[in-house]
Amino acid sequence: MTPSPGRAAVSVTARPASADVQDEIVALERRRRELLDQLAAIGPFRSGSVTALIRPCGKPGCRCSEPGDPGHGPNLRLTYKVDGKTHSESLPTPAAVRRARRQIAAFRRFQQWNREFVKVNASICRLLAAAREPERVSR
Ligand SMILES: [Zn+2]
Repeated sequence: MTPSPGRAAVSVTARPASADVQDEIVALERRRRELLDQLAAIGPFRSGSVTALIRPCGKPGCRCSEPGDPGHGPNLRLTYKVDGKTHSESLPTPAAVRRARRQIAAFRRFQQWNREFVKVNASICRLLAAAREPERVSR
């Protein structure tokens, strides 16, 4: 993952861009590289949420069939969507619950990362366009 920042910077300095724009591009490209490093540090992640399920088991004679008894549980499950369809997995142990919560938290970090990465890249593209404006005018 050592793509074009260097090359882009070179092509920009070859243009008659203002020093301010160049400084901004350099700063944004630095931020872009920082973000790429951060992505490598985000652990495995998944979308979803941990939900607590309380429900009757349906066995005749079980105390949960009494009126007013909420049922068994709470049983914690991981609920998530794939292609618009809701799935759920049981989280049978406290360790499984902790792991699922950690993975969901990592997913939120990834979403934040994604938003900023998109923003930084769009800013770089805008500035590159601005830096090349004089050439484009003569086209
Ligand atoms: Zn029951």
